[in-house]
Amino acid sequence: MRILDIRERSIPISRYAGPAQPGGLTTSIVAILTDITRAGRPLTGYGYASVGRYAQSGLIRERFAPRLRQAPADALLGEDGSLDPFRAWQVMMAGEKPGGHGERCIAVGALDMALWDIAAKTTGQPLHAHLADRLGSAPAGSGRVRVYAGGGYLHPHNDLAMLADEMRRFTDLGFVNAKMKIGSAGLDQDFRRIEVAATALGSSGRLAVDAMNAYDRPGSLEAAARLSPLGLRWFEDICDPLDLATQSTLASAYAPPIGAGEALFSAAEARLLARHGGLRPDRDVLLFDPVHCYGLPGYLQIIEAMTAMGWARQAFWPHGGHLFGLHLAAALGLGGAEVTPFAFHPFSGLANDCVIAEGYASLPQAEGIGFEANTALKQLFGALAA
Ligand code: MG
Repeated sequence: MRILDIRERSIPISRYAGPAQPGGLTTSIVAILTDITRAGRPLTGYGYASVGRYAQSGLIRERFAPRLRQAPADALLGEDGSLDPFRAWQVMMAGEKPGGHGERCIAVGALDMALWDIAAKTTGQPLHAHLADRLGSAPAGSGRVRVYAGGGYLHPHNDLAMLADEMRRFTDLGFVNAKMKIGSAGLDQDFRRIEVAATALGSSGRLAVDAMNAYDRPGSLEAAARLSPLGLRWFEDICDPLDLATQSTLASAYAPPIGAGEALFSAAEARLLARHGGLRPDRDVLLFDPVHCYGLPGYLQIIEAMTAMGWARQAFWPHGGHLFGLHLAAALGLGGAEVTPFAFHPFSGLANDCVIAEGYASLPQAEGIGFEANTALKQLFGALAA
């Protein structure tokens, strides 16, 4: 197998269901074309840079894609002559120093996703089955993965009605748990929003709140004291992700579950969080995004670091709402995965064949990641590869 071409494009995405409210976010989509022919076309792997950060066009085009393209073909292959994403990852990371992750980890993660898409398509399997074989992990016994619906962004107009409607539509789709954003409107307004959302879901225990790292130390402690009696599903991204002193103080003041790790990108940072963040393996939730953590090889390093320090795999709930996270949750036996049913179009929702029921998603059955089984994504990636 040889790589014929690697293409990248930056596209605008929106946190809102209406893409007309852009918010200025972008992400990178990538296509890796190979010399394997399927139905007269090159077998192509697709990936993207998840959501919540930005497109990584420069890093992908100038640094990591050229390393893949210029590598001797056998440097990317396993013993059976097919693409080995772990070897390709070593090629991408050649010469990279520890630390200073910046957002290079996201560029690597976007390409890594496309490499895994190729590897699974080569064997004709959906990615979760390919990974279960490759990593020797037991596939999800029930053929389904626990999921929750991410959304609940502050709307500039008619916010409370929009929020209630969004939460009701989540439950109509088959979700039980959902997540909303807080931290930007003031605590009193956040409380009104939480009440509206929890009512629509049926219980505050079904609602997680995400402060998107907005609070300083006093703000964190004030919010924690007021939220504590609500018994929320979890309280996420409370303070600066590297302010582990505040994170630790919070964990001793706030008994219900805390969600953390979304804005940490490496095993070294994960170890710092485990040692100094005060988190509790018996209840807290780890939100590392596999795509933002140097892709699957980096994510596996984080899982290894955290499980060595007493954490269970069920504590991991990958951020991002992407199909890649759903496959990983199934293959690695994680707690579950985020889905963004309405936000971040065209990456909202899952594959067309995924059914959500009672808070679980069925697994995609198309080969690879299955972007082609999502009408909007088939069109998006098809245009990049054409
Ligand atoms: Mg978050």
